[in-house]
Amino acid sequence: MIALELTDIEYSYRRNTALRGVSLQVEAGEIVAITGASGCGKSTLLHCAAGILTPDKGSVRLDGQDLAELSADARAALRRTKIGVVLQFGQLVPDLPLIDNVALPLLLAGHQRSEAHEHAREWLTQVGIQDEADAVPSELSGGQTQRAAIARALVSGPSVVLADEPTGSLDSRAGKELLDVLVSTARYRGAALVMVTHDNLVAAAANREIRLRDGVIQHEVAL
Ligand code: ADP
Ligand code: ADP
Repeated sequence: MIALELTDIEYSYRRNTALRGVSLQVEAGEIVAITGASGCGKSTLLHCAAGILTPDKGSVRLDGQDLAELSADARAALRRTKIGVVLQFGQLVPDLPLIDNVALPLLLAGHQRSEAHEHAREWLTQVGIQDEADAVPSELSGGQTQRAAIARALVSGPSVVLADEPTGSLDSRAGKELLDVLVSTARYRGAALVMVTHDNLVAAAANREIRLRDGVIQHEVAL
């Protein structure tokens, strides 16, 4: 089943064209690495897939549903339940204990607090930071912060997980551990996982590498 389908995506920031017609299909359970030089459009592609940016042209389908055909509210609700996004910075609410930060997507979707906390605790355990449940984000290391971001992205059981440089600010050992967490949790959930990366280690963990150049797909390699 195709979880994420991008068709002929074009996107420009004012005069700066970042994507010039990119198409991509990702199956449930598949792991895709988006690579390419800085400025080639990787983050823009991820943000279009996440519904953070709206493409100028082309379509984004999530589990077959075209995002453009939905009302803004329906699109927001779909994003909350079907897409987990792991960004590099700024995802956690500063003054909120980790357990609440991770539970937040479920609370926003209307789940009971006790049930949301139970799921959040399971995911904190899954990513190995269950002992930090009551800590606030400023008390966490970089690696713990990224683990928390992964727990939060996965807690609502999304079909598509999008990660921007998931190993970005980490040393190679911490990066490897975190990549293992992300890959195994995505596999465990049967989610489609799309990772933007400069890191060869991350690309090697994927089933497919898609290399962008100047806003188009330069080549695609099955791994
Ligand atoms: P990558 O993630 O591969 O480094 P980006 O998607 O961040 O590439 O950027 C693609 C192109 O769009 C680059 O030329 C970049 O300078 C430009 N760009 C990205 N974000 C913005 C922005 N907010 N405003 C203007 N130009 C942008
Ligand atoms: P990355 O290397 O992770 O893609 P960048 O350094 O390209 O990150 O971009 C960091 C931030 O700056 C992003 O929010 C991006 O949208 C913005 N940005 C990137 N290029 C430009 C640009 N030419 N003009 C304005 N904002 C930009």
